Amino acid sequence: MQRRNFIKNIAIGGLTAGMIGSSKLAQAYPRYRWKMVTAWPKNFPGLGTCANRLAQYITNMSGRRITVRIFGAGELVPAFEVFDAVSRGTAEIGHSSPYYWKGKTEVAQFFSGVPFGLNAQETNAWLYYGGGLELWTELYAQFGLIPFPAGNTGVQMGGWFNKEIKSVSDLNGLKMRIPGLGGEVLSRVGGTPVNLPGGEIFTSLQSGTIDATEWVGPYNDLAFGLYKAAQYYYYPGFHEPGTCMEAMINKAAYEALPPDLQAIIRIACQAVNMDMLSEYTLRNPIALETLVKKHNVTLRQYPDDVLRRLRTVSAEVVAEIGNKDDYSRKVYKSYSQFQTQARAWTDLSEMSYTRARDQL
Ligand code: CA
Repeated sequence: MQRRNFIKNIAIGGLTAGMIGSSKLAQAYPRYRWKMVTAWPKNFPGLGTCANRLAQYITNMSGRRITVRIFGAGELVPAFEVFDAVSRGTAEIGHSSPYYWKGKTEVAQFFSGVPFGLNAQETNAWLYYGGGLELWTELYAQFGLIPFPAGNTGVQMGGWFNKEIKSVSDLNGLKMRIPGLGGEVLSRVGGTPVNLPGGEIFTSLQSGTIDATEWVGPYNDLAFGLYKAAQYYYYPGFHEPGTCMEAMINKAAYEALPPDLQAIIRIACQAVNMDMLSEYTLRNPIALETLVKKHNVTLRQYPDDVLRRLRTVSAEVVAEIGNKDDYSRKVYKSYSQFQTQARAWTDLSEMSYTRARDQL
């Protein structure tokens, strides 16, 4: 009896439990019907399913006070118009990766990842604790957006080629799908970078519109059937050592939410950020085995001198973009300082541990 009275008197949003079910409850808890646009084909393994999970977490954690309807690339807007669509409020959320928006602001590419830069674990450390997310938030505010990390692929693969890459000159004249700063690096060694949304890669490679491509890693590359259009599968993905996906939220829509719903969105993004990395870490090795054993893909490591050359060029590209204006300099400085610290620790911890575990 006492307990019943207690429950009856709990205030919910200024109302007592006795009023549950009344129309006043709906007024106390307004409901939000949001749209999410994504840069991926709907339900695409890993990326599209990460967006689905984000929508599900937000809907479930909020007790359906926010429901999120998902649109894959091309359903409401094309893949590369996600940024504008969320910026102008056509959709409240977008799921993509910041390097797709280099046409808006080149420095955004730092938040996806940097060639020869931070790995996934280090990227999360920089974003959540090293000031990275604050800088990213400052950048996107100009576009009426709020960014959150929302998925990470881990180290990607170098890409698919129909010839062996024995020296840097083999990249000369190569037309390759490769986004972000990695694309700029390719152009500096004589290649032609092309940016295509995921859904167009296979056809372009098969028809010869492009000579080579990178996409993500074994799990995603197997799903697109890239092994049917190229023989050599190169590693490591020097250009994408831990690519961060983003959930961008329309700033006005986010700010109109009560604080508990804002927290739900933030934490749901954090949850999928970890989910995706965990899923890729599990599925990549399984998919790689399928590619090599079942589909006879030829695995190749980039030669050391190719990697050294690409690392030198990458440092030049990153420094140029990181010195374009005051804001870019802040991002570049924060990123580089953290990378120096992180590297000292990663070498001593993760690297020496995996060496002891696997190589001694
Ligand atoms: Ca990629």
